[in-house]
Amino acid sequence: MRVAILPGDGIGPEIIAQATKVLRTLGLPLELETAPVGGAGYEAAGDPLPAKTLALAKEADAILFGAVGDARYDKLERAKRPEQAILGLRKALGLFANLRPARVHAELAAASALKPEVEAGLDILIVRELTGDIYFGEPKGVRDAGGEREGFDTMRYRESEIGRIARVAFEAARKRARRVCSVDKANVLETSQLWREVVSAEAAKYPDIELSHMYVDNCAMQLVRNPKQFDVIVTGNLFGDILSDEASMLTGSIGMLPSAALNESGKGLYEPIHGSAPDIAGRGVANPLATILSAAMMLRYSLRTPQAAERIEGAVARVLQDGLRTADIYTAGMRKVGTEQMGDAVVAAL
Ligand code: NAD
Repeated sequence: MRVAILPGDGIGPEIIAQATKVLRTLGLPLELETAPVGGAGYEAAGDPLPAKTLALAKEADAILFGAVGDARYDKLERAKRPEQAILGLRKALGLFANLRPARVHAELAAASALKPEVEAGLDILIVRELTGDIYFGEPKGVRDAGGEREGFDTMRYRESEIGRIARVAFEAARKRARRVCSVDKANVLETSQLWREVVSAEAAKYPDIELSHMYVDNCAMQLVRNPKQFDVIVTGNLFGDILSDEASMLTGSIGMLPSAALNESGKGLYEPIHGSAPDIAGRGVANPLATILSAAMMLRYSLRTPQAAERIEGAVARVLQDGLRTADIYTAGMRKVGTEQMGDAVVAAL
């Protein structure tokens, strides 16, 4: 199993070092190959996504990605900015399905903005379509509308795009509690009516999965009222963008949240949801758990070794139970540790 390791910028190399240490502990036949990306790619080859890095990403079975970006590169022309690397990888690999789990470890429930009893034990997965919808639909622009300017965008989804994201959600639900809630705005939008129809038709092929539908405004409310009612949520690009950020705040710290972007053949790019955190880079205080949990997702979804994924997730739960905390999730009475100590503790728990 070949894995492209792309550490990136800022805290990227620090957190990726912990995740690779954890992966090497598993005793699996993994080949880990590292390449520069983002600002580091620009420094190495004058491009945020150097040709060699892209070639490695294409050949590998999965990609483990740290984070990219630094104020130093903000003045570069758009094509040379670090963030372009992520867009380039998504496009080149056809990564259309974004998987964002939001899980609250019982020990961290106090860190959430919601009451602990609403939060404790929360475990939901948001499956967001990543390459269609109003973000990419044509026509779009700003035009003259009789003496004033008018901005316009087009929401579009093809049946084939809806069907494939629905299948990702149903397959993911089979690895979980077998419930899928499809979120749309079918009471107002034509696109959503088609969405609902196609998702329901796909569901017929998954009789073991329970499908429900919900309007996006209600879903936004239910996520803070009673988030534990959900198992898998599947939705389009625009609604998923907003709901996945809302769900991530339920968990308290962005230092804990992994994500995946998958293509049709099951290959994926796995990364923490947070950025390169330049404010704490190089100080050894970043939380590596989101990246370690991203590695676990990679084992489950692309490398098809779910037991190894569970071992990692169990080890993370164990270190939290033992009271270890990086600064971002620290509360009084716990043991404050740095990035490397946290990685070592997960390895020891394994
Ligand atoms: P950020 O996620 O990097 O940081 C936001 C805040 O959270 C900071 O205070 C940071 O210290 C903290 N934080 C983030 N990750 C943490 C961790 N693992 N442990 C402890 N604390 C953590 O977002 P930002 O500050 O808005 O962006 C910084 C840079 O990252 C920018 O250049 C931005 O473009 C880039 N970015 C990259 C990605 C990506 O690579 N996928 C995503 C978002 C932002």
